[in-house]
Amino acid sequence: MRLLIATANAHKVGEIREILAGFPVELCDLRDFPAVDAPDETGLTYAENALLKARFYSQHTGLAALSDDSGLEVDALDGAPGLYSARFGGHDMPHSQKILRVLELLDQQPDRPRTARFRCCCALVDPASGQVLTEEAVCEGSIARNPDGDGGFGYDPIFLVDGHRTMAELSSAEKHAISHRGKALRGLLGQIYPHLSTTLT
Ligand code: IMP
Repeated sequence: MRLLIATANAHKVGEIREILAGFPVELCDLRDFPAVDAPDETGLTYAENALLKARFYSQHTGLAALSDDSGLEVDALDGAPGLYSARFGGHDMPHSQKILRVLELLDQQPDRPRTARFRCCCALVDPASGQVLTEEAVCEGSIARNPDGDGGFGYDPIFLVDGHRTMAELSSAEKHAISHRGKALRGLLGQIYPHLSTTLT
């Protein structure tokens, strides 16, 4: 099976390739299809956006397409930035500044808990079999007082996984074992190949 990793986010492509490393599929990504534009992410849920992206890229390439829609939900910010994590503060604002904005907003809520979670929905659209599948997963944690670590990407430096270490302080393998993306991908591929899902990292 040839599977297109249907995301323009290079960090996600890297993580998905690592998570699927032991899985017997031939992976390709959007760098192989430079003429294909990105769809507008108009969905109101992670699942809607994930499906919209998988359908779009499958239609434009003819391949089975695997997409990821994800975000950081901070309870004291009523779930923000959530679905709009990539657009928070503007698409062009670097994550180093998005992080500072989250910390500033949390400073204005000193009495509220700093609990948070990453949420990810992965979708697979396979034109050959007609399969359309989704799987959603979360990784629970809390927001640190200051950023720390230089692994991962996005909001990882402020996401405490065990009260002490941020996601950015974990090795890739440690992140994938507990992350929203690792869980969602293993769950999704486990739906299709239950006997093979143990080969996933
Ligand atoms: P999407 O591309 O619209 O799904 O937006 C995903 C955004 O959520 C990313 O750009 C990050 O801001 C955030 N995000 C999702 N997954 C992670 C992660 O594993 N670590 C850090 N930030 C993440």
